[in-house]
Amino acid sequence: MLNKLVIETEEELKDKFNEIDETALKNSEKVLDAFHKERLQSSDFNGTTGYGYGDVGRDKLERIYADIFHMEKALVRNQFVSGTHALTVAFFGLLRPGDTLLSIAGLPYDTLHKVIGIIPNESSLMSFGINYKYIDLINNDFDYDRIKNSLDNVKVVHIQRSIGYSDRETLSIEKLEIVIKFIKDINKEIIIYVDNCYCEFCTDLEPTDVGADIVVGSLIKNLGAGIANNGAYIVGKSHLIDLCAERLTSPGLGSEVGPSLNQNKYFLEGLYFAPMVVANALKIKLLTGKLCQKLGYKVINENLNDIVLGIVFNDEKKLINYVKTIQEVSAIDAHFEPVPTDMPGYDNKIIMASGSFTDGSSIELSCDAPIREPYIAYQQGSLTYEYGKIGIIKALEKIGNK
Ligand SMILES: *Cc1c(COP(=O)(O)O)cnc(C)c1O
Repeated sequence: MLNKLVIETEEELKDKFNEIDETALKNSEKVLDAFHKERLQSSDFNGTTGYGYGDVGRDKLERIYADIFHMEKALVRNQFVSGTHALTVAFFGLLRPGDTLLSIAGLPYDTLHKVIGIIPNESSLMSFGINYKYIDLINNDFDYDRIKNSLDNVKVVHIQRSIGYSDRETLSIEKLEIVIKFIKDINKEIIIYVDNCYCEFCTDLEPTDVGADIVVGSLIKNLGAGIANNGAYIVGKSHLIDLCAERLTSPGLGSEVGPSLNQNKYFLEGLYFAPMVVANALKIKLLTGKLCQKLGYKVINENLNDIVLGIVFNDEKKLINYVKTIQEVSAIDAHFEPVPTDMPGYDNKIIMASGSFTDGSSIELSCDAPIREPYIAYQQGSLTYEYGKIGIIKALEKIGNK
């Protein structure tokens, strides 16, 4: 039975789990200090409607995000429909016709291909005359020679930390710090833009602590902690955030409009729980990784830089079977069967197990994959360690039996 293997594996992971708990403590201190600094009070939960002028809670929430990231300003909005939307707003906010965007962590996340114009689209950055280049990583690190030779006329350097649907490793804060310093030493005017999806609170430092100018992420991932109902954030230097705000709403309106409706409490409560929830997700990532290997599966991205574990199946049927099994052990919709399907923004068919309280939420136990070689399942989350542990034990037993 798996139970004995699980107890053994938990014992082996003790030191790593302690390390994760220490990070959660530091991040909780950051959150609490920011709440106190802003004198957060229960009336801040009252949202606004209509234009959303004078939304005190929303404004405090954004200052709290800015404080946690040690930055000047933030946009934390339910008007962002997803992480992709916030990333898009930031690209269009910062770039103008004739400017150049350079990605230095390889091809970006699938949904950004049409945003940028890597796959032609009438509304892409390229369609507005913005130039685009990307540089692949080598051995999971930056290609410094090529970066150095590609920086002429570059306005924005885009760095995606997490692996997306690739087979590389998530980039650590240490690697980020070195490459940002390298670029800024060559030209300090270049804007460093980081896609921070899945990485928030995995360590006690964020990209903005090591020189990033602007950082973007989704609230149905780490910082929403399964409590935020939707939304995303952009945090960074003041003038950059203002440019993004004018793109999210309208030139001249900027961040002053945008009603929080009744979401302030959920955003703040999500942030409050996020250090612990991210810690649980990290523990489930490590536990799943070790168990999978003991059972003969290959895994990738076994590190504490984000909450995503890749399980390599090299076989379409086995991949689909695993994803279905994760759906079967989910809290909600467990009796539904996920099937590979076309999804807006993605090039391949995608299969997604997300039996979650919030639709598509991947801080909850979830597993998704593009149907393409080498057939990797990307697993994230679990809001609690216990539900995650129960889920993966059941899932691994089920695929063992099939
Ligand atoms: C999840 C994710 C996004 C955004 O995805 P949405 O589903 O649009 O929120 C962007 N980049 C990376 C690396 C991601 O993991």
